[in-house]
Amino acid sequence: MLDKETRKNISGWIRGARRIVILTHTNPDGDAIGSSLALGLAFKKMGFDAQVIIPDGLPDFLRWLPGIRMSTTFAYKKEKAAEIIGQADLIFCLDFNDPDRLNGMEELMFRSGARKVLIDHHEDPAGFADITISETWRGSVGEMIYLFLKDLYEEDVLDEDIATCLYVAIMTDTGNFHYASSYPEIFHIVGDLMKYNIDKDRIYSNVYDAYSLDRMRLLGYCLQEKMVVFPRYHSAYISITDEELRRFNHRKGDTEGFVNVPFSVKGVSFTALFVEKKDRIKISFRSRGSFPVNRVAAEHYGGGGHINAAGGDSFLSMEATLKQFESLLPEYKQMLADE
Ligand code: 5GP
Ligand code: MN
Repeated sequence: MLDKETRKNISGWIRGARRIVILTHTNPDGDAIGSSLALGLAFKKMGFDAQVIIPDGLPDFLRWLPGIRMSTTFAYKKEKAAEIIGQADLIFCLDFNDPDRLNGMEELMFRSGARKVLIDHHEDPAGFADITISETWRGSVGEMIYLFLKDLYEEDVLDEDIATCLYVAIMTDTGNFHYASSYPEIFHIVGDLMKYNIDKDRIYSNVYDAYSLDRMRLLGYCLQEKMVVFPRYHSAYISITDEELRRFNHRKGDTEGFVNVPFSVKGVSFTALFVEKKDRIKISFRSRGSFPVNRVAAEHYGGGGHINAAGGDSFLSMEATLKQFESLLPEYKQMLADE
């Protein structure tokens, strides 16, 4: 995965480093956390002081992961995070393509004199790192970390804990191998991870069967009351206000995955989820097939992402946001009909 020159540089930087810091994106998902912990655990094993800093809230369904105690959340421990980043002599950035995905931490990263390596699978990585390893066709950064470690070290640094973190990264970013995973190598990688004795069924349960009753009730409410389907446009959306979130005792991560549920309706190939936040409406988009939701996100919502998974923001009211979204659908009618 690494060309000769890159391997030589990174190997040298790692050898010369004492404190390695791994940063990942805001609102971290299974790939962000799983990849970061896997890399951190591997560096720890190789004798480095390795730390993982996440910008904000770790979802409950990832708290059981091996190595989670090496992570610090910037939003809750700003001084500690600043100190750790300030002392780093090598920084790895995982699973994001733009420094603004660090949600306020980017200042600390830019101020640090440490070398920076970006490992990511999003399109158009901004050129902020000294070395950028970008493979946009991969379903997850988890695979990239697997290949990176295999490539970098002659000895086998993987073990059950690291393989578990990598499996979580790959499993979650492909929706349990439902999308972004139709190529042989991903299964070769997973096949190898199985050799480290990981318990894939327990991992699945820890991640997907760990919801609160409130979250299930919120989903039920959304499907019954808040899902709107547009058969003409093969589209559907769900919107959730702050009041509704509070009514269902919302906890971080509760709406994770909601955006995918409308795909179960026959004919739907484009979905959106609108969630009201303090200062904006956070929007998630998903598609099946060739409809580029990253284009929708970039053209209208100041966001971006992948062809089939993207996001952005609206600064209008919920009502105005939904109205505007509905008015966009005719613009994409032809592309949506081609699905
Ligand atoms: P999610 O819907 O899970 O929040 O995000 C799905 C994907 O969309 C992310 O992996 C990321 O690539 C992209 N994404 C989400 N929100 C934003 C955003 O505000 N800006 C950009 N550039 N990409 C986003
Ligand atoms: Mn990812």
